Amino acid sequence: MRRCSLSFFLVLVTLACYTANLVAEESGEQGEPVESAATLATGTSPAQQSETPAQEPEPPTEPDSTSRPATGANAGASDKPEKPMPKAKSIELDKPVSEIELATPPKADTADSSAAEAAAPTEPPAAAAPEPETAEGKALQLLGAEVPPATSTRLAWSPSQHFEGVYSATPVLVVNGAETGPTLCLTAAIHGDELNGIETVRRVMYNLNPKTLKGAVIGVPIVNMQGFHRGSRYLTDRRDLNRHFPGDTNGSSASRIARSFFDEVVTNCNAIVDLHTGSFYRTNLPQLRGDLKNPKVVKLTKGFGSTVVLHSDGAKGTLRRAAVEAGIPTVTLEAGAPMVLDELSVSHSVKGIRTLLNQLGMVNKFRLWGDPEPVYYTSTWQRATTGGIIFSKVQLGEFVSKGDLLGTVTNPITNVRKEIRSQHNGRILGMAMNQVVQPGFAAYHIGIQAPQEQIPAPEEVTAEDEPAPLDQNAETGSEEQREASAGEPSAPTAEESTPTVDREEEREED
Ligand SMILES: [Zn+2]
Repeated sequence: MRRCSLSFFLVLVTLACYTANLVAEESGEQGEPVESAATLATGTSPAQQSETPAQEPEPPTEPDSTSRPATGANAGASDKPEKPMPKAKSIELDKPVSEIELATPPKADTADSSAAEAAAPTEPPAAAAPEPETAEGKALQLLGAEVPPATSTRLAWSPSQHFEGVYSATPVLVVNGAETGPTLCLTAAIHGDELNGIETVRRVMYNLNPKTLKGAVIGVPIVNMQGFHRGSRYLTDRRDLNRHFPGDTNGSSASRIARSFFDEVVTNCNAIVDLHTGSFYRTNLPQLRGDLKNPKVVKLTKGFGSTVVLHSDGAKGTLRRAAVEAGIPTVTLEAGAPMVLDELSVSHSVKGIRTLLNQLGMVNKFRLWGDPEPVYYTSTWQRATTGGIIFSKVQLGEFVSKGDLLGTVTNPITNVRKEIRSQHNGRILGMAMNQVVQPGFAAYHIGIQAPQEQIPAPEEVTAEDEPAPLDQNAETGSEEQREASAGEPSAPTAEESTPTVDREEEREED
């Protein structure tokens, strides 16, 4: 009898242990993939339930897109009532930091006390977050945080397209001025191998004083973090991010990334300067590209002092074109070559953007450029007619006449040398670096000056400008303005006998 009850007790203990194991396994303590899916679906981790059964189920802390205060197509995904956004940590942007807190992806609307704590400074604050005592400025709501007026901060944008738990958060620098004004956005390295823009954004942003700024400046030094890490123009799937704007939440990977950026950053801007360089071993004279049919775009180009301005409406899918179609005036600032940091390009770009800030009434202190008038160009490409090694005889920015020798292409095997001579009177706005080229390679980008009077009158860029609904293809500019515009770069002039005007190649560059 005694032995019997002992056996029964042992069986009971074994059963109890077995059951406990089952529970432990089910509760996800082993971190099975299935568990994280359940967590996402229900918003409550079973582990949490078993460990803290007394607590209320918590919202997911995973940075899935639904947990963001998304706009556009993502809007309404969260059924939580709206909560005030956590205040962004106020920092001095130009103060070097040992480590950037970007590991935490942006997720402001999980903002109960825990998220507020996450957003709170972990180091002694450089400046105590000033409450908006400056009544004029407005708090800027961006990426799930609220940036009070007269402060600057560093936020993070993380594309909703990523492996679960693996983020490539992109820093977003924000300087919100003490007084109201437009929001200017600076985006760089949409092509991950274009470095000049990254440095340009750094210099501009770290030199802004939120106490005196009117309006806000949002700077994204590296939009295409995937490409940047690999020294590549493209995303990891070899797509060109700058051909997928405004993007599609249900589209390709590139399209989703583009849409996320468009919804979460771009739609907050009243004007954008998108920074680029030449592509594929070509270098560009610092120049603006913009759709000059749009009077607000013209206003932006006027802000860059004596910078060269090239009329181009931009290829479909570029950030510039998508933003302009959404009612946000945007220009591309091209300077230099990919994979190269050159001081001349960077300092010209920085000076141009500072002049623009002045022209938009956002800052007072930067001195105006000596010659305030930009020079407008249409352009044409001149190509190598044979393959071989190209050596240039001209320099970037040089004025050339029809018939001038631009460069030579020598076949290394046959030693046959062909000359490339200019078919236009114009200026070298972009050119191939010395390299091996195939027949047809676009070697010289020649600007042909457009009469100033063809450019429509500029229109002010203000903080009140609301982006147009995305699906609407906003036609910009009146019919007269379109006719009076500087002309399509693709429209061949009478003197051209060969198809040197190349729209495709221009698209490669934008
Ligand atoms: Zn580019």
